[in-house]
Amino acid sequence: MLVRHLVNEGANVQVILTPDSKDFVTPLTLSVLSNKPVYSEFFHRETGEWYNHVKLAYSFDLFLIAPCTANTISKMANAQADNLLLATYLSAKIPVMIAPAMDLDMWKHPDVQNNLNKLKKNSVNVLMPDSGFLASGLNGEGRMQEPEKIVKEVIHFLAQNQLFTNKKVLITNGPTREYLDDVRYISNASSGKMGFSIADAFIRQGANVTMICGPVNEQFINESFTIEKVNSAEDMFLLFQKHFDNNEIIICVAAVSDYRPKNKHLGKIKKHNETLQIELVKNPDILKWAGQHKKNGQMVVGFALESENPLENALLKLKNKNADVIILNTTKNEGTTFESNQNAIMFVKGNETNEDYIFGSKEYLGNIIVQKISEFKS
Ligand code: C5P
Repeated sequence: MLVRHLVNEGANVQVILTPDSKDFVTPLTLSVLSNKPVYSEFFHRETGEWYNHVKLAYSFDLFLIAPCTANTISKMANAQADNLLLATYLSAKIPVMIAPAMDLDMWKHPDVQNNLNKLKKNSVNVLMPDSGFLASGLNGEGRMQEPEKIVKEVIHFLAQNQLFTNKKVLITNGPTREYLDDVRYISNASSGKMGFSIADAFIRQGANVTMICGPVNEQFINESFTIEKVNSAEDMFLLFQKHFDNNEIIICVAAVSDYRPKNKHLGKIKKHNETLQIELVKNPDILKWAGQHKKNGQMVVGFALESENPLENALLKLKNKNADVIILNTTKNEGTTFESNQNAIMFVKGNETNEDYIFGSKEYLGNIIVQKISEFKS
């Protein structure tokens, strides 16, 4: 079965069923195979939760409709949206591939072929059906391609259509630790999740990612990924300078400590005194350094976590650090930022901004960031 083959190849598969297809295959089977709930209605029947077809159409690398019936082809060609699958198709910003399956006379019918041509003109990729025995008992063209063949086509298509094939991306991520003595440090609650999601989304688009990462619990292993682990901002900066020239896209996600203790105490500071004064000195601003040293063809992207006047401050940061893009998030959006799985971001570039925050899981926003960077680069 197609879903199983895709999952075996390491794909993250979200199944959407049309209402009619439930007569042929049970949602439970597909849910077990894909390891996820299957969507088929606009709303969850019991909870009333709305399935956001716009997010679905943005969150994945490919929208594959298999099998695709004459009915669905017709509705797609005529912009009908009377089920979740069709609404997702109409919102899709990702490539669409269909594997038609129908009886031979239906397949040959000029109206079906006209609809198909319309879809092809709209850049829908059509996996032409095979010849063979059909459900009607007839023998001829109209049989959906074998699942193994479809999976091969999908792999080939994704490899050919990646946005960042062999492009080099450098990401700073996580918090830094600035030690006062041998055991205590100044740090923050950055989990590294946002940086890992961005890395994952870039890798799926063919990029080679190098990450310089402060201490985090998250694990991330991929052969197109190099991770350099550091503790302090100074160590992060040294490695960043080493890798900087070799990368085309530079994304500073790390929550770098702004200050570090001027002197690190050897051993453990004793609590003899009622007060303790620790002199702090400023850490290097890695993003600012990148903005000052970028060359033609290099793109520097920073983050800004703001509590007051977010947009104003983000625009200031864009200018002061000479970044190409600032991704703004604010402490004002509840349930987002540091340790959360959710975030809300706004792109700030030149004097432009998309007017609102984009909310979603960090995984989803990783995809959005990669798509946006690709648009900004072109
Ligand atoms: O100035 P502020 O810390 O608000 O700027 C945030 C942005 O600058 C983030 O992209 C962060 O990774 C980067 N930054 C840095 N080095 C610092 C401080 C912040 O790269 N020392």
